[in-house]
Amino acid sequence: MKNSAPNRPSLDDFRKQIINGNRVVLAQAITLVESQRVEDIQIANQLVEALLPHTGKSMRIAITGVPGVGKSTFIETFGKYLTAQTKKIAVLAIDPSSYKTKGSILGDKTRMEELAKDPLAFIRPTATGATLGGVADRTREAILLCEAAGFEIVIVETVGVGQSEVAVRNLVDFFLLLMLAGAGDELQGIKKGIMEMADAIVITKADGDNVKPANQAKADYQHALHLFSENTAGWRPRVITSSALENKGIEETWTLIQDYFNVIHSNNSFKELRKQQNLVWFHDSIQQHVRQHLLESVKVKTHIQNLEKQIAENRILPSRAAQLIIQDFFQT
Ligand code: GDP
Repeated sequence: MKNSAPNRPSLDDFRKQIINGNRVVLAQAITLVESQRVEDIQIANQLVEALLPHTGKSMRIAITGVPGVGKSTFIETFGKYLTAQTKKIAVLAIDPSSYKTKGSILGDKTRMEELAKDPLAFIRPTATGATLGGVADRTREAILLCEAAGFEIVIVETVGVGQSEVAVRNLVDFFLLLMLAGAGDELQGIKKGIMEMADAIVITKADGDNVKPANQAKADYQHALHLFSENTAGWRPRVITSSALENKGIEETWTLIQDYFNVIHSNNSFKELRKQQNLVWFHDSIQQHVRQHLLESVKVKTHIQNLEKQIAENRILPSRAAQLIIQDFFQT
């Protein structure tokens, strides 16, 4: 395959270097899969496909929570705990806020400095600038690349803004929700749907004056989670309190995650989960491609503009207008 970009390894070099765990080439490969250029997409697909036999062996873990809950501090402490046990850990930090505000929540500050220096860790921030579907899609490929590079634990970090968690849930095996003690009923209400997706909740910053409220929150969430039945993987979610600053609850979190993987391996849910992840990926991709083709069609663009005018003037039902667009597109 012709590989036009300067300084870019050939496909075979890419493949070999990634399997060798070369982090610089891994980062380049992730940039390639994030690219929107048609030629890049082709090479990226070939690369990921060539690496498929080397993928699938990591624990795929999502860590999410509202800004300020302590995600980066927790991941840094947790990551260092794991690398101290010679585990290789990759962190893919997705920032869905950037496409709304054009600023990046995750990128603005120096994050996980210590972990970033660790030779057993790989940290990759992604300011999206695209749709959430797109983010999820490229993150899947980035996970596969990290796996091929030998990372045993891949953490996908997202800012909890509601919508993003649902997209991320389908990318991972284990979903960890970080929560603050005493954040108020209103916030907890918003989080209920997200809570139902969680495999574990970690109450953060359980230190100093916050120990008591954190323990109270733990009891409350435990109570709430017991109202939910076992999830489809045969797992009952648990709650832990943690202080990343004081190194508390870190080992407990790791034990819990190992318990979870033991359960899903022994009851075959793991295979089912992975199958499900791939099927959701397949269907998401169909939707994305159809949408992209449709919106790029010149004929459709003009038709959309005309219909937008009619909708603004209340002359046509929006749903009926959408039907006309679809009919128009598929009649070509
Ligand atoms: P993120 O926005 O969710 O990534 O949150 P950060 O990790 O950046 O943490 C937000 C703030 O909470 C920072 O000022 C941290 O120092 C503080 N913080 C994080 N973890 C802890 C903790 O375990 N204990 C205490 N007391 N503060 C913490």
